[in-house]
Amino acid sequence: MNIQAQPEGLESCVVACWSCKGPASPRALFCSVCNAVQPPRAVDHFQRLGLLPGFEIDLAQLERHYFGLQRKLHPDRFAGRTGCEKLYSQQQATQLNEAYETLKDPMRRAVYLLKLAGRAADADPKGTVSDPALLMESMEAREALAEAETSAEAGAVLIRAEADIASGIADLAQAFAERRLDQAEKLVLRLKYLSRLAEEARAHKARLARSAGE
Ligand SMILES: [Zn+2]
Repeated sequence: MNIQAQPEGLESCVVACWSCKGPASPRALFCSVCNAVQPPRAVDHFQRLGLLPGFEIDLAQLERHYFGLQRKLHPDRFAGRTGCEKLYSQQQATQLNEAYETLKDPMRRAVYLLKLAGRAADADPKGTVSDPALLMESMEAREALAEAETSAEAGAVLIRAEADIASGIADLAQAFAERRLDQAEKLVLRLKYLSRLAEEARAHKARLARSAGE
């Protein structure tokens, strides 16, 4: 899926190596001419990790690419290098970690894809719910959680929230595949709410289990 057209020919566009001024691709960690580590360029997380942009990604491939690149940037490899190279390798590693952490998590990946498409899916960090159906669902779940007197009852709320999260992620994949970004945005908000609910249910369940000496 191509959520946002990549800038024309980015993959083929060439930047100059800071050290030897030779040609380097924006994605390259090292100059192919002099082997100097390159500063991170403005490529998106998918490009940085050598993946096609989309919600459905091959997680095994993500891991493989990430750990492969991370190994190349290990500080031990830069022990004898110049300060400049140490700095660039650290900056590359930071960008790489940020890309990996964002893409491996379905929620963060969805928010990032929406951002690439020019949408602010996390414009509301507090996640105030304005959709009436979601508001109702949220109130009912919170009530059920507040009324839970045993860890099993809180556990039931948790199980339901986790099942809703799983089906919400499947719906999200579908929405992205069909490029229904309004729907994807709505689903992201619902998933944020469900994640918070699951977190609260987990904490409440643990509290109830502790006080019952379970
Ligand atoms: Zn070079």
